[in-house]
Amino acid sequence: MAKKLLLVNPGDEAKLNAISVRLFTFPPPSLAYLAALTPSDWDIKIVDENIEPMTFEDADLVGITAMTWNAPRAYEISEQYRQKGIKTVMGGIHASMMRDEAIQFVDSVVIGEAESVWQCLLHDCERNELERFYRGERIPLENLVIPRNDLYSDRYRLKASVQTARGCPIGCEFCSVTTFHGRTYRQRPVEEVLDEIEALNCGEFFFSDDNILSYGKKAEERAIQLFRGMVERGLKKRWASQVGIDFASNPELLRWAQKSGCLIVHIGFESVIEETLEGMHKVRNLKVGVRNYKEVIKRMHDHGIGVHGAFILGSDGDRKDVFQRTIEFILDSKIDTASFTILTPLPGTILYDRLRAEGRLLRTNYPDDWRHYDFEEAVFNPRHMTPDELEEGVYQVYQSVTSRATSLRRAFNSLIQTRSLPLTAVAYSLNRGLGALVTQKYQYVKHVLPHKVGGL
Ligand code: SF4
Repeated sequence: MAKKLLLVNPGDEAKLNAISVRLFTFPPPSLAYLAALTPSDWDIKIVDENIEPMTFEDADLVGITAMTWNAPRAYEISEQYRQKGIKTVMGGIHASMMRDEAIQFVDSVVIGEAESVWQCLLHDCERNELERFYRGERIPLENLVIPRNDLYSDRYRLKASVQTARGCPIGCEFCSVTTFHGRTYRQRPVEEVLDEIEALNCGEFFFSDDNILSYGKKAEERAIQLFRGMVERGLKKRWASQVGIDFASNPELLRWAQKSGCLIVHIGFESVIEETLEGMHKVRNLKVGVRNYKEVIKRMHDHGIGVHGAFILGSDGDRKDVFQRTIEFILDSKIDTASFTILTPLPGTILYDRLRAEGRLLRTNYPDDWRHYDFEEAVFNPRHMTPDELEEGVYQVYQSVTSRATSLRRAFNSLIQTRSLPLTAVAYSLNRGLGALVTQKYQYVKHVLPHKVGGL
């Protein structure tokens, strides 16, 4: 009889069913890659609890991935299965950074990228000889398997994610990508990426790279080659991606991105205050300069491409006027959509080590307190405001830029700027959805969570 593998991405019950989650979330590539590497005598099911509720089902092995904020939920799920005698394995960035913590709650921990050890781990599981730790290597990205996106629920708006590269050479203070994937930038051969896109049976997808445009001329040329390849193969799919701020500096890149179906890009502007960017070591943004942010957005718009800006609030360079200055930038720049997160010190980052050394961490009852490290709660003492002022400030930014009237006005601007109806529709629903989600989460954190007892 076939063995059963259950792969789980734990979720946040406060966000389940929020429309913006479905609009914004894409299938996590890591589980789809592991499913593709699993031998055919295993039956596989993937559950993403951010998209659908999870109910207990029998399995021979449960594989769980988690970031930091959902690690406590991962441990809960693992405990439920282990109580029934079912083995569990956990991987992903949190388990890799906190291996000694994770092993207390699961049978096995995979440290680093799991692909290189996955088949060995399954073999050990079949023989009931699971090791406590497996150390995955950073694999070369040639000849990767095609990820099993088909195993994901069809409730995502972006039904598939395609990864073209891993790693980031930049190493911003708050980010753990460099620690996990390395300072080098490993790239898949363009033709293999194109084959994967061609095989997708959906019209829209997300490039799940942390930054599809790494650093330097070669990375730009590769991106152009990729986009041009999509046009030459007649793929006719819409896509979105995270890109660096310098994406807008190369007109040829923009032209091919537009032609190949780019709908919207996610740019980490991070802050409208240069002192804050300096503290983050956000060198690329400093090079472009805050004074040129509007020009970056305009160039994207001139090519019919929408811009989602990501902003982080609460850094040491931020004073109480940061909220108003951010609101003014959002409304003035005509950026299509934006998200505002609270600076969060994740384990494995320079930021975490610094704030811990400075005695500024507020939530240190680990692992339970990791659930607060979700970018929406202040888990440290900010330098120029109280934690409550920071949370309230972020909430107010959302209220100011996502009300129905403001979202309509912003969507109208998106239409005028880009002449793209699909983008206008996405921008409106995202702005409204993000506003609703944050309100829902704010109420949950303030009034529900303190009285909550979880369970599968
Ligand atoms: S935030 Fe972006 S640019 Fe900075 S280290 Fe992370 S992936 Fe690299």
